[in-house]
Amino acid sequence: MTGNNIILNEPLSRHTSWKVGGLADVFFTPNDRNDLSHFLKSNDGSITWLGNGTNILVRDGGVRDVVISTKKAFKEIELMDKSSCKAEVGVSCFELAMYATKNNLGPAAFFSGIPGSIGGALTMNAGCFGHETWEFVKSVEVIDRNGVIHHLDPKEFSISYRSVSFPFPLWFLSCEMIFPDEGVTTMEELKSLRDSRIERQPLSENTCGSVFKNPEGNHAGDLIERSGLKGFRIGGCSISEKHANFIVNDKGATARDIETLINHIQNTVKDRFGIDLDTEVRIIGEHDE
Ligand SMILES: Cc1cc2nc3c(=O)[nH]c(=O)nc-3n(C[C@H](O)[C@H](O)[C@H](O)COP(=O)(O)OP(=O)(O)OC[C@H]3O[C@@H](n4cnc5c(N)ncnc54)[C@H](O)[C@@H]3O)c2cc1C
Repeated sequence: MTGNNIILNEPLSRHTSWKVGGLADVFFTPNDRNDLSHFLKSNDGSITWLGNGTNILVRDGGVRDVVISTKKAFKEIELMDKSSCKAEVGVSCFELAMYATKNNLGPAAFFSGIPGSIGGALTMNAGCFGHETWEFVKSVEVIDRNGVIHHLDPKEFSISYRSVSFPFPLWFLSCEMIFPDEGVTTMEELKSLRDSRIERQPLSENTCGSVFKNPEGNHAGDLIERSGLKGFRIGGCSISEKHANFIVNDKGATARDIETLINHIQNTVKDRFGIDLDTEVRIIGEHDE
């Protein structure tokens, strides 16, 4: 561990796609596994892990203790055989999709539109266009709170829609993914998925993607739209006119604005349809004074 990969009082708004969030007391970017393992062994406070920050709302009071970021570390990806690869958690989903096109792996095109890291995709079971991350996971490498590395089989996890339960407290370091032989990922597919997203989602704005999970048999965006909330604003954020399950930070929102809007949507949809909307986005940190 070196001093220059630890920053004190780092604004987390720099590390989240909503561009909000208070300070992390300690912000640590490990250089490698040894560095990370040593850090975990020698620090016993609470740890918050951050990938690309595209599915997280950090409150304005920030995070006490340590935030570990993999955005600039764990970036290796390698081919294992003609249908599988190993990706470290700092690789972005887009990089994985591009790698798949170059190496005739398929079907991995769906990863291209998810702006998170492989670590975030494993934690969230990220997915779209009919596929989910864990469909393709053959094994994972993880690290525990004591800095010990384990190799685990997917069977040891409980996987469901945008949710993964761990067998013990852990963080992901890498995964091996196997892609079936049928079909390969092509650039044409990537372009067509990108065009379809551009048409339906506010991709050039500061958002966290879909805020709510789709309730069984419904689409969260549809329920929000039918509640008359498209365009509804609280402070510096509003519900996207393009896709009602997206909240846009378009006028210097605080995390409090966003969380208040989330609560307002939940109450309105509950009153109107009797349906509870659960957040897909993870909310962490402390409220400001
Ligand atoms: C424009 C836009 C479009 C999106 N489209 C989609 C979509 O189509 N499908 C979809 O599923 N999601 C989508 N998302 C949401 C988001 O990109 C995914 O949930 C992604 O998987 C989050 O990855 P991340 O690296 O940003 O994770 P973060 O937001 O940094 O973290 C998310 C959670 O994962 C944990 N975490 C991160 N890395 C690790 C690790 N290595 N080990 C253990 N825990 C870890 C964090 O602690 C946190 O709890 C979209 C977001 C945006 C902004």
